[in-house]
Amino acid sequence: MPEFELVTPATPDEAIATLRASAPGDVAVLAGGTDLAGDLDQGRVAPRRVLSLRRLPWRTLDWNGESLTIGSTLPLRTLELDADLARRLPGLYAAVRAVGSVTVRHRATIGGNLGRAAPASDLVPMLLALDAEVELLGPDGLRTITVDRLVRASRETALGPAELIRAVRIPEARPSAYLWQRVRPFHDISHMAVAVAFSPSRRSWRVAVAGFPPRPLLVPEAESALAGTRPDLVSVERAAEAVGRHAPIVADRRASEEYRRRLVRPLLRRAVAAAGGGGA
Ligand SMILES: Cc1cc2nc3c(=O)[nH]c(=O)nc-3n(C[C@H](O)[C@H](O)[C@H](O)COP(=O)(O)OP(=O)(O)OC[C@H]3O[C@@H](n4cnc5c(N)ncnc54)[C@H](O)[C@@H]3O)c2cc1C
Repeated sequence: MPEFELVTPATPDEAIATLRASAPGDVAVLAGGTDLAGDLDQGRVAPRRVLSLRRLPWRTLDWNGESLTIGSTLPLRTLELDADLARRLPGLYAAVRAVGSVTVRHRATIGGNLGRAAPASDLVPMLLALDAEVELLGPDGLRTITVDRLVRASRETALGPAELIRAVRIPEARPSAYLWQRVRPFHDISHMAVAVAFSPSRRSWRVAVAGFPPRPLLVPEAESALAGTRPDLVSVERAAEAVGRHAPIVADRRASEEYRRRLVRPLLRRAVAAAGGGGA
């Protein structure tokens, strides 16, 4: 691993100032390090400085009525163990538990998962289905952006060069589910995953798919097919067809396009049923 200077600012302002003072590519941001350590080790990045977020006061978790705000550096294991998560946001609970192993989740963070913007991320599709918003802190202060706008493509985000993810806000508790297919749990990432959530305030469904490049995405055509609180089997079939027709499912070195397409129907049917929406 090449040598670098480790910088551990104590305040968010110091962290932003460090980023501003560094040329892009000269500095890498370190949260839990489960992605970055591999990148450094394999020479995919070679920064002169590594900016650790360890001392920043962002390991937070706040329920405010129905909404949940998760600090970007909170370890996923702490989120998973929250007493209310599984009951109020079962889809997010399942997505968090899908990330690697308990050991990985002791270090991995939600900010790192978004910052990595991997096509097979387990958190991004669920956050899309939950209409999550992301608080970004930069030289001009705070701004809020949707996950859909933040995650642009594989390893590409809308983060400015001196911006950090401060927190993720989920507006309301939602019946939701997250289902994935992979060969070996704990070791592999998903070949195909489906996230669904029903919004009680909008009385409508969200459907997101993930696992293939360039990024996890919402499928609005599938959402309109799932009309009503408890869509019947016919609606779920229509939604699965809509995913097949409108989601740009492709092959990569991990799975063929045909295999992924075959997974849509059973995953969606089971996810809608798990979220309390009838189905099968
Ligand atoms: C064995 C193993 C198994 C894994 N399995 C899965 C899996 O099943 N599903 C899955 O989704 N992921 C998986 N991962 C990937 C990884 O654990 C997750 O993406 C994790 O959430 C990354 O968080 P981190 O804090 O470790 O990120 P880090 O490695 O610290 O950071 C990753 C990137 O995000 C950026 N970043 C981090 N925090 C911020 C911030 N606050 N603001 C701005 N940018 C930031 C940095 O630029 C950095 O390059 C696995 C990793 C390993 C090693």
